[in-house]
Amino acid sequence: MNEVPAVARLYREQGAFLNKFYRRLVPLRHRRPHRMTNRRPIVSFTFDDFPPSALHEGAPILERHGGRGTYYVCLADDRRFDMSGEGFDPSVLPDMVAAGHELACHTYAHRDCALTDPGTLAADLDRNAARMAEIVPGYRMANFAYPYGNVGLDSKALMGRRFTTARGIWSGLCAGTIDASLLPSHKIYGEENIAPALALIEEARRRNGWVIFFSHDVRRRPTAFGSTPDQLERVAAAAAAAGCAILTVREALAEIGLRETA
Ligand SMILES: [Zn+2]
Repeated sequence: MNEVPAVARLYREQGAFLNKFYRRLVPLRHRRPHRMTNRRPIVSFTFDDFPPSALHEGAPILERHGGRGTYYVCLADDRRFDMSGEGFDPSVLPDMVAAGHELACHTYAHRDCALTDPGTLAADLDRNAARMAEIVPGYRMANFAYPYGNVGLDSKALMGRRFTTARGIWSGLCAGTIDASLLPSHKIYGEENIAPALALIEEARRRNGWVIFFSHDVRRRPTAFGSTPDQLERVAAAAAAAGCAILTVREALAEIGLRETA
């Protein structure tokens, strides 16, 4: 795994610090409440950044269980944010869409949304959308995930205007009424996070909820932010065994009755 440059680390720590403060405030503000109308429990598997192994190792596991993945993409050429060191080949994106996977936005340059001003962020989102439309003609990213899970009040308002949903990294279950601008998500990397993931699936089954998982790379020796194929397999198998539909975030929107914003 690559060393995180000291400046990048400091920057991320600042964002994380600010985010602790925001964590109490952000859920209360700029809410876009939606009452879920799904008739069956749903599980979504999402991958941030995304290192190629999330596709080559991760997608076949989901596909074996009848599902597809949501991949939150930054299309900047500078990929220092990606700790996997796996590189990235955007030419795979059209085939991913054809195979039913979802491409979603993660900013262009992996911006920290607690530290970046809304004007810079808006221009950055435009750039990611334009680049995506070049690579996959006509493709529009409907959903967003906050890089580092960091979200500020202004950025939450901005994403609420620009995307149908925005996903964070705070663990939890979507059930009943959700805030579309700050969806919870549970990490499925680190063995200690797998048992809670299985418990969330059980809770989704009981409460007819929607659980969203996230990871980064998927390989036998993953980064500290990645899953082993076995971990992904165990969680996907549990979702299928619990009778959950494995859906992309975009597919889940139709199930929960949330119309995509134009
Ligand atoms: Zn990221």
